[in-house]
Amino acid sequence: MKRLFENAEVFDPEAAGPRGAALLVEDGRIEAQLEPGEATTVDAERVDLTGYSLAPGFIDLHFHGELVFARGAEFGAALQRSARARPAEGTTAFLATSVAWPGARLRDFVLEMAEAVATGTPGGARAIGIHLEGPWINPEAAGAQPGEAIRACDPREIDELLALAAGTVKLVTLAPEVSGSRALLAALARAGVVAALGHSLAKSSAVDAAIGEGLCHVTHLFNAMGGTRHRNPARKAAYGDDELAGRLLGDDRLGCDLICDGVHVHPDWVVGACRAKGEQLSLISDRVELPAQAAGSGASEFGAGGLRDDGQAIRLADGRLAGSSLSLDRAIRNAVAFGALSRIEAIAACSLRPAKLLGIEAERGTLRPGARADFAILDGRGEVAQTWIGGERVF
Ligand SMILES: [Zn+2]
Repeated sequence: MKRLFENAEVFDPEAAGPRGAALLVEDGRIEAQLEPGEATTVDAERVDLTGYSLAPGFIDLHFHGELVFARGAEFGAALQRSARARPAEGTTAFLATSVAWPGARLRDFVLEMAEAVATGTPGGARAIGIHLEGPWINPEAAGAQPGEAIRACDPREIDELLALAAGTVKLVTLAPEVSGSRALLAALARAGVVAALGHSLAKSSAVDAAIGEGLCHVTHLFNAMGGTRHRNPARKAAYGDDELAGRLLGDDRLGCDLICDGVHVHPDWVVGACRAKGEQLSLISDRVELPAQAAGSGASEFGAGGLRDDGQAIRLADGRLAGSSLSLDRAIRNAVAFGALSRIEAIAACSLRPAKLLGIEAERGTLRPGARADFAILDGRGEVAQTWIGGERVF
């Protein structure tokens, strides 16, 4: 069946700016972008979007949802619940993201997510792959990651996980200073997996070496890397010889993502990062969803008191940040309100740019002919009014 999405202001992240156009969709994919005049004679079911904007569905590189509380066979159901809640936020695809778990739990996660990636969630956003956030990170920069499972890279574990994942691991966040990271980077390069620095206090020389071995991205810039000090980067023993975030900010060989909630990163630094990184900057949610029963069940592994949502972010009982309650539609509105990005740039940072990082921009994150008809329909305030996945309305 053909559908014509017409009368919207189209935010095509590959165009110079928003414009009037109509999108012809057939069999779940974009067939053509038509000028408004061309659309009048097309024989198709019409979707009138007068007064709304149309953007590619958002892609979240870093989404935990309820997964952080799951284990074993619970992973599948936790993913389904989280996936079904995303279209209300305009998100149509995401990477199911782990935390530092012991070996058996991490293997269960990978197996369950590989299956979910293959089958999808009816009516929900698509898990398009796995993001392993650790466990190969620096315990001194763990943030709220469960510390006891953080470990050195064991090539046998890496090979086993990549084999279990059957090509579904798309992104790995690692600390280059962790023992065995060279073998990890080599394995990721062989498997075509994006290697990102995160939860790290690496020295400048280690960053350079890792870039030589394939590191190309930075996970949640500014967070879990020692913070920023503008004056005395040279000496603060606990953080290595360098101020890492400043070092990464100015390195054009590295893209980055950041949590644009105004809590994890001050709005002024969001502006600075957007200026420094340009089209290499993506916005992520790093979203943690507290399941209904979390007050009790989530407690043990995150310390006494577990996790709570204080209305701005997810925190440990001691107040430390443990994830966000952000959605990508709000990240876009924030980036615009902070003066960091124009609306079309902010949409690109949640669609085209993450798609390019993952090498899937022919399929997702764009409005090119042939791409999947995944759309976020936004009202004048940037709130999500409708979401379409594969040419079907899911919100
Ligand atoms: Zn993290």
